[in-house]
Amino acid sequence: MCGIIGYTGEKEPKETLLQALKRLEYRGYDSAGIATLEGGDFRVYRCEGRLEGLEAKLKDEHLQSTIGIGHTRWATHGAPIERNAHPHRVGSVVLVHNGIVENYAHHKAKLEAAGRKIQSDTDSEIVAHLIDQKMAEGVAFVKAVQLVLPTLEGSYAFVIMSTTEPNTIVAARNGSPLLIGIGEKEMYCASDVQAILSWTNKVVYLEDKQMAVCTPSRYEILDAAGVPVKSEVKQIKWTADELGKVGYAHFMLKEIHEQPRALTNTIEGNINHSDEIIAIKDLGLFRKNLKAINRVSIVACGTSLHAGLLGKYYIEQFSRLPVEVDYASEFRYRNPILERDNLCIFISQSGETLDTLAAMREAKSRGVPCLAICNVRDSTLAREADATIYTNAGPEIGVASTKAFTAQTAVLYMLAVEMGHIHASLFKTQYQELTREIVRTPFLMEKVLGLEESIKKAAAEYQDFRCFFYVGRGIYYPVALEGALKLKEITYLHAEGYPAGELKHGPIALISEDVVTFVLAPQASSNPPNNPTTSRVYYDKLMANLEEVKARNGKIIAVGTENDSRLAERADVFWALPSAGWAINPMLLSIPVQLFAYHVALNLGTDVDKPRNLAKSVTVE
Ligand code: GLU
Repeated sequence: MCGIIGYTGEKEPKETLLQALKRLEYRGYDSAGIATLEGGDFRVYRCEGRLEGLEAKLKDEHLQSTIGIGHTRWATHGAPIERNAHPHRVGSVVLVHNGIVENYAHHKAKLEAAGRKIQSDTDSEIVAHLIDQKMAEGVAFVKAVQLVLPTLEGSYAFVIMSTTEPNTIVAARNGSPLLIGIGEKEMYCASDVQAILSWTNKVVYLEDKQMAVCTPSRYEILDAAGVPVKSEVKQIKWTADELGKVGYAHFMLKEIHEQPRALTNTIEGNINHSDEIIAIKDLGLFRKNLKAINRVSIVACGTSLHAGLLGKYYIEQFSRLPVEVDYASEFRYRNPILERDNLCIFISQSGETLDTLAAMREAKSRGVPCLAICNVRDSTLAREADATIYTNAGPEIGVASTKAFTAQTAVLYMLAVEMGHIHASLFKTQYQELTREIVRTPFLMEKVLGLEESIKKAAAEYQDFRCFFYVGRGIYYPVALEGALKLKEITYLHAEGYPAGELKHGPIALISEDVVTFVLAPQASSNPPNNPTTSRVYYDKLMANLEEVKARNGKIIAVGTENDSRLAERADVFWALPSAGWAINPMLLSIPVQLFAYHVALNLGTDVDKPRNLAKSVTVE
């Protein structure tokens, strides 16, 4: 994962590099480091752990340089210790790397046989040696990089400097994100646009197998053969202000509270209010593919997969097309059965999730229409998909996804309604009602956020429990999975999500007074259009499951609908959602499970925005 930054310009780069790394730290935080070049030599500073350590190390250092590179690491090869931290300096070269060089062991053996001493356990240092080795043979810097890249297997983004060309930064990408930021007499390279938005909003995204050669006054993009290629300069609309915490203690809390606005931004523009119909703008000409399809595969990872599971309920109920949902890391390698009249939907907040990207490339190679759902504009997934629906949730910085999840869910809801319309499986009154319901959802979310005080109290009461179950039935089951994932991610407590009916088939063995069961049981003001009794049946069955837990002295936190005294009386803690339709409830339910996880984490003192071992944008397989 990791974040990388490069700068060449007129200013002394220490503050710029540190500020950019701060913005990139969500991508990895095992170690941090920078390198600058002055007086013909590198100055390299590296530190194990968080960025603060590096900041402290640099505090009294006076640098005289105008060029530098930086890295914040998510270790894949070698322990997270200083020796393995980037940048890696070898002879006349220093580099930072994001990704995995899969054939590094092969190169390492040859380098060692040639007498080279490898200092770290990383795959990355090997590449610095390979470039330096070529340069030692008399090959010029840029050419040396170009010759080494085709010998590497795996994924990478590199930012590299050499003492032989003191104003030049070379950047290269294959599989890991990388962009060039164009400033006034200065150039940046970064993993992510957030890193550089304070200085420029003009960027060029590198494509796989491309290299960029940057000096303060110009940049050149080269293809794998070293031939200059044309590139499009994009203007980024997000502002640096949107990236701050604006008074919230954590990004995660800010992003939870932003959900009504994020959802409004995601929905608006896609609703024809006078006809009360959904028409997703981003679908454009891709819409014509939707008519012919007879089966849908949704592919994603983590939280996005849970949104995908909700999408399965929506699409099956609204359009009556069969839907399968798959982990991206599984889909790619199981030789999935795909036909040209299928539709594949790939979901990723960042649009850089490597598992999801690889799965999409597999589907594309089979000629299947591929639709992406992403939050980050012009991300790799978005650029490679046949069409992309953007969630417009704004930048999500907290590692544990919140607003992106509900925004993805809203997109899948809208897509399903539109497909129901196209496939004539919804009556006009039905799709009009579904349109009205999604338009109302942000207002209902505002109300749900009002539960925070009561959630805070419960978090204090239950923070010392060590085992949590989250259960729901039907469309509430994916939210149970997501609730358990949120708690795991940021509190490190053990939590499992289950369809409530499954408890009795095994997990109930664990239920005792030391175990908390989170019951997601809202009543629905409307039913699935083609399944008019489902909600009632689900509710009744869920109440029976709740009794099974109570009979074994399990603690119960229940989320239901206002005025549900039956549920309120049986639960140890009860939170009431405003009344909403079957398909809207998952978006409302998401808020209490997010807030509960957040407040437990806060009480336990974990790092909410940067939980251990995780990173936001998972760009390794
Ligand atoms: N594979 C490299 C390492 O372990 C880079 C990992 C990253 O992307 O942070 O150092």
